Amino acid sequence: MFSELIINLFITVAVISFSGQVLRDKPITYKSPLSLRMLIGMGAGILGMLLINYSIEPADNIFIDLRHISIMISALYGGIVSSFICATCISIFRVVLTGINTTSAIAVFMSFLMATFCGIISFTKLSRYKKYILMNIFNVASSSFSIYTLLKKERNLNIVMGNYFVICFLAIVAVYLVTTYTNYTNRTYREMSYFKFMADNLSDLVSTHLPDGTFLYLSSSCENLLGYDPKELVGTTPYRLFHPSDLPEIEKFHNTVITSRIPVLITYRIQKRDNNYVWFETTTRNVLNKDGSIKELVCVSRDISERKTTEQMLLEANDKLSKLSYIDGLTEIANRRYFDEFLTTHWNEAINNTYTISLLILDIDYFKKYNDAYGHLQGDECLKKVAKTLKEVTINTNYLAARYGGEEFALVLPKVSQKEALAIGERLRQKVESLGIPHKDSLIKPFLTISIGISSALPINSTAPDKLIHESDLALYKSKSSGRNKVMVFEEEINKY
Ligand code: GH3
Ligand code: MG
Ligand code: MG
Repeated sequence: MFSELIINLFITVAVISFSGQVLRDKPITYKSPLSLRMLIGMGAGILGMLLINYSIEPADNIFIDLRHISIMISALYGGIVSSFICATCISIFRVVLTGINTTSAIAVFMSFLMATFCGIISFTKLSRYKKYILMNIFNVASSSFSIYTLLKKERNLNIVMGNYFVICFLAIVAVYLVTTYTNYTNRTYREMSYFKFMADNLSDLVSTHLPDGTFLYLSSSCENLLGYDPKELVGTTPYRLFHPSDLPEIEKFHNTVITSRIPVLITYRIQKRDNNYVWFETTTRNVLNKDGSIKELVCVSRDISERKTTEQMLLEANDKLSKLSYIDGLTEIANRRYFDEFLTTHWNEAINNTYTISLLILDIDYFKKYNDAYGHLQGDECLKKVAKTLKEVTINTNYLAARYGGEEFALVLPKVSQKEALAIGERLRQKVESLGIPHKDSLIKPFLTISIGISSALPINSTAPDKLIHESDLALYKSKSSGRNKVMVFEEEINKY
């Protein structure tokens, strides 16, 4: 007798678990579509029929089983519509089983009574737990009452009622546990599916990693962004995809992520399946275990190659602009502005490191006459040639050749003594002369010549370098006034100021 009721219990648990799996994508309440609620009612009805099939028959035409559980389940999930359909199925089956008689009439009545009660309870705002308890109390009480009424004259009443109560109690506990667990796992499954759906439809790449970086999960956008099927990367390390130049930075980032409580951001290059690199911007945060150790790393990455290209272009444009602002347009050597900056920087360095700076200022002789004789354009060509000659002197040195103004040029010589500067100046003068640029109106030679003034200093305090320029100018004046095509130094001794 007991074993049939145990079978009833197992069937109930098995059917509920199976239904939970089948319907895991569809949360069912009394507000679900009517068709679904009807389906639930029919399903529960079939369960009820199955249970009647394995019922105990303590007296003729009296069947005892757990069918009330199926009515309760149908009401709990699908409301009164489901419970009525379930009761209808059970009633039809019950009547078909024994025909119309008193016991089948009582069974039908009890089924609809329970369906009504449970259906009404399902609409209330009570918690699921309270609904469950109330429905069970009513169902067990009413079915026990009908069993008692029908069997009160039978000898085995006590045994039957005893068995029935034990199984009902077990069923109440088991069904509660199974439905609660099924609801929980189904909700988790739906949430997971939803998050996966969101992650897979984002243009950004969502990925999770072990603390050492190994890929655990990658969203579908991986295919689009990197050309890899996510399955190919799961279990592998991302380090083999990083650009070698970015590795030190990424390792530093990885260490920060492990210890940081807040999300950390990095930009780096990652290799696609086609071997090309793309720029990625990744925000990463760690997820901790209860004991505080790192469980996983969660990353959201996006392709920022386009932005990087624009940034690069802007940088290059800026670089070009700043170079242009330091270059003389005609002669393509440094302009006055760069000359000033260069001289000041080296002047300060010379103060700190105690070294001599020499400055050459050179001026083309009778250049006005040159312009007058050959034209301004030819004059420009001449300036270019002199600038080129000056520039050649600076190759492989830290000297600076600059156009100081008009037809005047300057040569800044850090760490060069007055004597050395004089030699350089003399070489320069000869070079220009040997260019052999015809200058028929020059009063000294038939070629273009230059005059040079030199000044040297060992800067020992923060005095501005203006004095050095002034002294070179004076030396240049001396060259001019003493006949031109000459190199003159400001003084024999190195100035200290
Ligand atoms: P000095 O030997 O005393 O230096 O005589 P100079 O004629 O060279 O000196 P001056 O200062 O009288 O004349 C400088 C000339 O340089 C005047 C100007 O026309 C010319 N000049 C200045 N800048 C440019 C330029 O960019 N291109 C050309 N073609 N000529 C220039
Ligand atoms: Mg001049
Ligand atoms: Mg001149």
